[in-house]
Amino acid sequence: MADTKDIKPRTLMGPGPSDVNPRVLEAMARPTIGHLDGQFLEILNDIRDMLQAIFQTKNKLTLAVSGTGSAGMETCVVNLIEPGDKMLVCVNGVFGKRMTDVAERAGAEVATIDVPWGRVFTAEQVERAMKRSGPFKVVGIVHAETSTGAAQPIEPISRVVHEAGALLLVDTVTSLGGMEVDVDGWQIDACYSGTQKCLSCPPGLAPVSFSSAAEEVLSNRKTKVRSWYLDMNMVRKYWGSERLYHHTAPINMNYALHEALRIVLEEGLEPRWKRHLAQHRALKAGLEEMGISYIADPAHQLPMLNAVMAPDGVDEAVVRKRLLSDYAIEIGGGLGDFKGKAWRIGLMGESATERHVNAVLTALKEVLAQT
Ligand SMILES: *Cc1c(COP(=O)(O)O)cnc(C)c1O
Repeated sequence: MADTKDIKPRTLMGPGPSDVNPRVLEAMARPTIGHLDGQFLEILNDIRDMLQAIFQTKNKLTLAVSGTGSAGMETCVVNLIEPGDKMLVCVNGVFGKRMTDVAERAGAEVATIDVPWGRVFTAEQVERAMKRSGPFKVVGIVHAETSTGAAQPIEPISRVVHEAGALLLVDTVTSLGGMEVDVDGWQIDACYSGTQKCLSCPPGLAPVSFSSAAEEVLSNRKTKVRSWYLDMNMVRKYWGSERLYHHTAPINMNYALHEALRIVLEEGLEPRWKRHLAQHRALKAGLEEMGISYIADPAHQLPMLNAVMAPDGVDEAVVRKRLLSDYAIEIGGGLGDFKGKAWRIGLMGESATERHVNAVLTALKEVLAQT
């Protein structure tokens, strides 16, 4: 039988999870206490305050959902959508596609717009789609598309979405903690993230935030939320002052997130975004020197997720396996349209350092020279 004591550490440079600071792992090992214990409730209050700071929002309904980033996606969708509601989803990669699937399961009447993978949406494209097949209750879009490495500008989309009277739902799983996310400034109505990307905490919780407009929609639903577990009308009574039992919060995961958020705020948001950008530029320069090119168009490349084409004639999976077995470095392979053709190199949170960039460039050079 395997023993967790034997697990060898890795350098995590894939699409998540990212390297975790030992402070976070130590926090996870603190004593498990009750979910209504005053000491734990203080932890939850801190998490809400720190998430508000990192999301840059005053939204009262800001908390960490029990579950990974996908649970955050599902939470935002099922709480805003009632069966028969119309939702527009912008699809330029795997996670837009996933949002479409989640919305259909929630009973939404879903319309999609697509642009080629690696590209982003213009406000005009979204506006045209809303005129053509609207009105929509909710428009969903991915800020940082982890499958392609494309960075979607949110502000211009927000303007046209609100002019049309719809709510804006944004996936910030990969962006939060690694580049600017301004929930209030960009007037995002519902937003979700995950712990395992640029927050550098193990997977397990999903930060979410709902605007007052979204909260109103939630309070005035005619039907019950189609997920008992993710029903924010109930969950918010535990995170709020009522402290009403709904489900037992994952105590030690919340310790971990608490410590991870402290680390983010100790560094400061802007220095952290700058660090991600600087390491991305260093990696990009090194990869381009090796003749390796990016998937996303140059004006919209994510700092924390570098999706690049494997050189012609190179078996990308073999290279990835060698990186893991000989260098203990994990990078990701391509997804969807790019399966078998691309690598996804993450520079997320604790993994966005000069040491990581140099390690992966050196290892790639050596492995490619031998194949
Ligand atoms: C990773 C990711 C998700 C899903 O998060 P999980 O933690 O894997 O459930 C959703 N959206 C984006 C953009 C992601 O990168």
